[in-house]
Amino acid sequence: MITPAGEVVAAGHNMRVQSGDPTAHGEMSCFRAAGRRRDWHTLTLATTLSPCAMCSGATVLHRIPGW
Ligand SMILES: [Zn+2]
Repeated sequence: MITPAGEVVAAGHNMRVQSGDPTAHGEMSCFRAAGRRRDWHTLTLATTLSPCAMCSGATVLHRIPGW
């Protein structure tokens, strides 16, 4: 997650195997690392692969722009 000023406020990576959690995709790990925030609508979520339906939905629900 990156602010408009270019500051990285959270990062994550796929932890499905390590955690045994089938929802621990890289995007979800990043959301968890970002914690509770009020500025979701100003952040940029960068990923190395196209987000799946679950991660796309979480991005829409957090009102991250670009969707
Ligand atoms: Zn996903």
